[in-house]
Formats: sequence, structure tokens, C-alpha cells
Amino acid sequence: MSEFKLLIGGKLVDGAKSSPVLNPATEESVADCPRGSEGQLNEAVAAAKAAFPGWSATPIDERKKVVNAIADAIEANADDLARILTQEQGKPLGDATMEVYGTAAFFRYFTSLDLPVKVIEDSEGKYVEAHRRPLGVIGAIVPWNFPMILMAFKLPPALISGNTVVLKPAPTTPLTSLKLGELIKDIVPAGVVNVIADENDLGAPLTAHPDVRKISFTGSTATGSKVMEGAAGLLKRITLELGGNDAGIVLGNVDPKEAAPKLFQSAFQNSGQVCIAMKRLYVHESIYDEMCDELAALADNAIVGDGLKQGTQLGPLQNKMQYDKVWDLIEDARKSGKIIAGGEKVEGKGYFIRPTIVRDIEDGSRLVDEEQFGPVLPVIRYSDADDAVSRANASDYGLGGSIWSSNNDDAYDLALKMESGSVWINKHADLAPNIPFGGARFSGLGTELGEEGLLEFTQLKVINMAR
Ligand code: NAD
Repeated sequence: MSEFKLLIGGKLVDGAKSSPVLNPATEESVADCPRGSEGQLNEAVAAAKAAFPGWSATPIDERKKVVNAIADAIEANADDLARILTQEQGKPLGDATMEVYGTAAFFRYFTSLDLPVKVIEDSEGKYVEAHRRPLGVIGAIVPWNFPMILMAFKLPPALISGNTVVLKPAPTTPLTSLKLGELIKDIVPAGVVNVIADENDLGAPLTAHPDVRKISFTGSTATGSKVMEGAAGLLKRITLELGGNDAGIVLGNVDPKEAAPKLFQSAFQNSGQVCIAMKRLYVHESIYDEMCDELAALADNAIVGDGLKQGTQLGPLQNKMQYDKVWDLIEDARKSGKIIAGGEKVEGKGYFIRPTIVRDIEDGSRLVDEEQFGPVLPVIRYSDADDAVSRANASDYGLGGSIWSSNNDDAYDLALKMESGSVWINKHADLAPNIPFGGARFSGLGTELGEEGLLEFTQLKVINMAR
């Protein structure tokens, strides 16, 4: 595989050190990855700071042209990016290809938005208007489950609104971001976007850096809370997209055969490593046995393997730490519930776990209460829908949730009672660039995507004139 470089101040440079990125399907090295030092991080922030006056003064239409050109470059190199993504992340090549094209689409969406001056009052005595100004240097920190699309929640709105960026991907999935840096080196003015890979040691100094005005972070709740602490001293803006424990609630009027494939996909896409994966499934007692059987059959038939192999539906867990964590939860669930599909390790190399369905399990067990972030789904029986909603709400997390019913009115009433940032009806995890997205409670702070997601990269400035 080609050599990867950091992008700092418009130049592709070696890291202060390097270490391999492992393919989670083979446990072999995909490539040697340059890893930046704290000195290089400081250079990247300095380059972004130096580029800020020029970039923020560039008319928004010119900035949009650059963002569109990045989308063009992503599409023109989609095959290459998708292969790298599969090799570093593990997901099937088809899913990786979709993620890459989705990334380009997210970049393009933000070019459809504007930041017009808003007139608040135009009266005899005064004239008041609101402007949206860029913040300065943005630190964009991304996790390992969707390295490309989650970067696209941050980079395009940051750039359109006139900010400059230091992007830091996760240490186990840095290659697609570094490749992007290489592709955009001559598209973006020097210093406007910098890409730096690390060994999980540069997130904290990036967060604490005095010249970084905002941290846009996606990752775990534990790290998100450290980001909040790190940003507090300098009162930085932060957006935190954190963990989730999304519940799906299936009413008794649903046909299990028809709904099961959709529920399965909602829980097991990307091998369950999705912040808004369905992580707890509450099923009405009248269809509970049938639903469990349908889900178990789907799990038994799923093709698990190397994402580069044609036909693979589910890849490995992305890294050994996550694999061990999910396995530990499965071992615990053996005691608290009944495993009816999966629950076995796959022999040989790679961090594979077969999709696992656990039935006869209750709230209060670890698998139900914790975020598993892997291919194992607890199916919980309930008898009263309002009670199921209360149980779904009784979580520290509040990212997403869904109601499944053949009656949209019933589903809508229950959706109003669910306490999470997004609630879907008869689907789960429908994300789109124009739909604002954010979590309640431990699931985060602030909003990404949509117009709200763009505004989060701006400072409100009011001009108030006497007449
Ligand atoms: P993580 O918190 O371990 O790491 C995320 C990023 O933070 C990485 O780039 C990491 O290097 C960096 N980091 C580590 N220490 C840091 C520090 N002290 N300060 C700043 N940055 C630091 O998360 P992960 O394990 O890579 O990702 C999985 C988690 O992310 C899950 O909990 C998942 O639910 C969550 N997630 C949330 C969303 C969302 O939009 N809400 C989306 C995807 C994933």
C-alpha cells in the first residue's frame, strides 16, 4: 500500500515516529502509519491559525467551491478510499464504498447552506442585525467506527463557515484521513486543513491548545467528558457526539417476519459498531417468541468474514480492545439470559464474533444496561408499551430510539414520550446530512448536521444601531 503522510501547513510530511495499522480481519499490518509528535501538532495548529485570516476573509461562495472540489476528489478516488477503509476498519467493501460516496454527499450538502445576515429589528428607533462569524481553529476528533463519514460531519461545516481545521482520526483507523489529506493538499489553501495521526496521545493536547477555539468531538462518553474538562480552562466551544444505548420498541401489532430483517440490520450494521445502532430491543410478549426465532435465523445465516471477500455481510470488530469488551459482555449474558444464536468465537485470525441474539434477559443485566458497541443484541419481553418506554428512557444515554408499529398514530404518541435526540418510527438510524443530529444526557452536547450543525461552527455577532 502507498506511503502515508501527515498534512501540515500544506505539506505532506513524515511523522516523528511510525507504527503499523492492523487489518482487523487478518491482524496483519495494512501500512506503516506516520504518527505525529506534540511538536508537529503545535505546527499544525500554528499553520491553521496562520491560514485563518485569509480563509475567513474568502467569500463564502469561493469556500464552497473548495468544499465541492474536495467532494469531487473523494468521488474520483472512491475505489481506493473504500479499499483502504475496509482494510483498516474491517467493514465489507460495499459498505465502505457507500460510506465514501456518502462522505462526498455530506460535503456537497453543506455547500447548499448559507450564513445570511439576519435582520432582528428594523424600527424607527433602531436597526439590529445578527451575523455569523467563524470561530478560528477547530480541532476535529474522530473515532474508529466510521472514520470517513464522521469526519464529514465536521470538516465541511467548519470550512464553509470560514474556520480552519486540525483533523485527528482515531489511532487504529487513520489511513483514510491521511489519504484524504494527500488528495486535498493542492485543493485547499495551505494550512486550512491539517491532518495528523497519533498513538492516542494527541487528543488531549489538541483539546487544551490555547489557539484552538472549538473541539468537535465524536467518541465515547468517557473521553467526551475529558474533552469537556480539557476545554473548560479556556472556555472553548465544544460539540460532543458520544455513546448510546438505543432502544427499539416493537408493538404487538407488528408482523415479526416482515420487521425482523429491518431490526436485524438496525442492530448489526457495521457489526453493531454504530453509535445509533439498536442496542436493546423490547418486544411485546404476544410476538416475543416468534420475533426471537426470526432474529436468530437471520443471525445464523449471516455471512461473517473479511470485508474484502465478496458476499461478506459482517466484518470483524475493529480492534482487539473492543473485541475483548464485547466478548466479556457475551460471557456475562450467558448467565443473565439465553443465547439463541452466535455466542461463539470464530476460529483463526481476526477479531470476528458471530452475530449473537440473547433472549430472556432483563433490564439490570450488563448487556442491556451498558453500550455493547458490537454484534450482540439483547431481546427483552414487555407487556405494556408505556412501561417499555419508561424502561427505554431509564438510561444515562439518550442518543436515539425507535418505535415499530403497524399503526403510525400509536407509534407517534409513544415517540413523543421517548427521551432521546432522535426517535425513528418503523426504522432506525436514518441519518442524513440535512437532518440535525445530537444526543441527550450522556450521549452528548450540541448538534451536528443540518443548519444547526453549521451554526455550531460560528459565533453569533449582533450589530445594534441607534437611529
Ligand atoms: P474514544 O473516545 O476512545 O476515541 C475517540 C477519539 O478521541 C479518538 O480519535 C481518540 O484518539 C481521541 N482521544 C482519546 N483520548 C482523548 C482525550 N483525552 N482528549 C481528546 N481526544 C481523545 O472512542 P472510540 O472507542 O474510538 O469510539 C467508540 C465510541 O464512540 C462509542 O461509544 C460510540 O458510541 C461513540 N460514537 C458516537 C457517535 C455519535 O455521533 N454520537 C458516533 C460514532 C461513535
